[in-house]
Amino acid sequence: MSYISVAIDGPAAAGKSTVAKKVAEILGYTYIDTGAMYRAYTLYTILKGIDPKDEEKSISLIPEVHITLTPDNKVFLNDEDVTFRIRQPDINANVSYIASYKDIRLALVEQQRALAKTSNVVMDGRDIGTYVLPDAKVKIFQIASVETRAIRRYEENMQKGIPCTLEDIEQDVRKRDYIDSHREFAPLKAASDSVLIDTSFMSVDEVVNEVLKIIKMKTGEQNG
Ligand code: C5P
Repeated sequence: MSYISVAIDGPAAAGKSTVAKKVAEILGYTYIDTGAMYRAYTLYTILKGIDPKDEEKSISLIPEVHITLTPDNKVFLNDEDVTFRIRQPDINANVSYIASYKDIRLALVEQQRALAKTSNVVMDGRDIGTYVLPDAKVKIFQIASVETRAIRRYEENMQKGIPCTLEDIEQDVRKRDYIDSHREFAPLKAASDSVLIDTSFMSVDEVVNEVLKIIKMKTGEQNG
């Protein structure tokens, strides 16, 4: 039996996970946050006292890192709940280095592909439509201006109690976008067969409805 995959890619803080989670909930699909996996790996590197800029040492940890995403959207790193911890500024600042290492990507992509073989999924990330699931039935590339993205992430952090300034967030978003789109292996890029959604002037519900419409068009799946 083959399952339906919905790929949602785009730059940092474009609202992908909020939309992906809601769409998955409405359709009864499994939500897979691939960014959380790179974040959890980055946390492990830091906990081990290894500089995430050191590729050789970072990749040497691959056999020790076991990441689990639960149905209620929690993230476990070797059986420890790190859901909140991986959203902190030190992870934001380092995750794009970890995500640029091919060996780490290959290990995590293997897990992502395996998950897509066991249920219908909404998977968000940077390279889902181009590399992880090139045959996904639905591919969305979600964008918004950098200013809009920074404000949204700032407000989200305030709600979650994560200390930050708007300036730092904007700088982090720009830096991650640059590294993510300039890396050699599986960079951030819109798939040629993806549908572009600019969410700068859209509410979350409007984006969700747009994505549901696209899914219905591409798969015939009934929803909403
Ligand atoms: O989606 P999120 O912002 O949580 O992702 C954190 C980081 O993980 C990104 O900035 C990027 O470096 C990396 N990432 C990636 N490929 C993915 C998902 C995330 O390189 N599929």
